[in-house]
Amino acid sequence: MAIPLIELKIKDQNLRSEIDAEIKKILDNAGYIGGEQVQKFAEEFAAFCGGGHCVPVANGTDALILSLKALGIGPGDEVITVPFTFIATAEAISIVGAVPKFVDIDPKSYNLDVNLLERAIGPKTRAIIPVHLFGQPADMDPIMTIARKHDLKVIEDACQAHGAEYKNKRVGLLSDAGCFSFYPTKNLGGAGDGGAVTTSSPVLAKKIEQLANHGRAAQYFHEIIGLNSRLDRMQAAILRLKLKRLNKFNERRRQIAEIYFKNLRNNPSISLPHIDSFAKHVFHLFCVESSRREEIMKLLKSEGIGHGVYYPLPIHLQPAYAFLNLPKGSFPMSERASQRIFALPMFPELANDQVERICEVLNKMALQLAKTK
Ligand SMILES: *Cc1c(COP(=O)(O)O)cnc(C)c1O
Repeated sequence: MAIPLIELKIKDQNLRSEIDAEIKKILDNAGYIGGEQVQKFAEEFAAFCGGGHCVPVANGTDALILSLKALGIGPGDEVITVPFTFIATAEAISIVGAVPKFVDIDPKSYNLDVNLLERAIGPKTRAIIPVHLFGQPADMDPIMTIARKHDLKVIEDACQAHGAEYKNKRVGLLSDAGCFSFYPTKNLGGAGDGGAVTTSSPVLAKKIEQLANHGRAAQYFHEIIGLNSRLDRMQAAILRLKLKRLNKFNERRRQIAEIYFKNLRNNPSISLPHIDSFAKHVFHLFCVESSRREEIMKLLKSEGIGHGVYYPLPIHLQPAYAFLNLPKGSFPMSERASQRIFALPMFPELANDQVERICEVLNKMALQLAKTK
């Protein structure tokens, strides 16, 4: 039986029938934008993150764009982030007219290397966007200390880390603004696009809310230039039902990770993810590394086991960012990870015996690899 990398079909029949009922209600009432469902979701997601405010928006990329805009970042500014992330992190910086300034990752956690942060700050630097990659929080305390010392804003890219904890606090409220995506594959995913910004500042929340709704102050009265970036009612209704189960889903992801750890700990051809002592990891993806990735992925394919590479090319080497003139070798840890990393199946409905079978295949493969070195 084939095992997918990720399962998007809703297997829980209770959840499915609750979703069906909500969708029917929305279609019957024919109100599609805004309303109580969106408001309630905002309150519930803020509470999930540990308090503060939540502004639902159209997607995670917009969450980043709107946060940058609301914090006054634009042309002439530089924003620090990592080159080893999904393109959207850098794209948001470019879309507001600023320029990304990359800092390499720590090779163990894949998150921003805080030891390299301060020397990357220049006279144009206005903000830092650490990414909580694969579900593990970046080391926020030193990032915030350095940011405050240099009067910089901090925006968390928490698009892969709903419910992850840094020193027992959930991500999203550890900085000026936290950006989330509810793209279907994320730990909390809708049936389409969705996103949110979390913040402890009521002023910033209001500003983002206004920007996301055409800069309007009242109907057909526009105070500032904004855009259309709303979470629609159908997505909000679905996300509310899934949010109720998110702690359980994240716990299950952590259990699956434990099974991988236990069964692969002696596998000589694979290195397992490193969990920082300050982190509660929520395993958006379970990524491992190998110098023989291509051979391993070929075998996984032949065994019907899903896998994927996140990410095969760091952002500074993407054609879209060629104008930055950052040659190969500029960020060695990001480049090394790109060549070695691959993801194994990870989703809450994955059964224990499926995880064990994946490990068995990988362990058999390791013996074979050792012979053909
Ligand atoms: C998914 C993702 C985004 C963008 O979210 P969308 O909802 O797809 O726009 C941004 N950053 C990271 C790290 C992501 O994984």
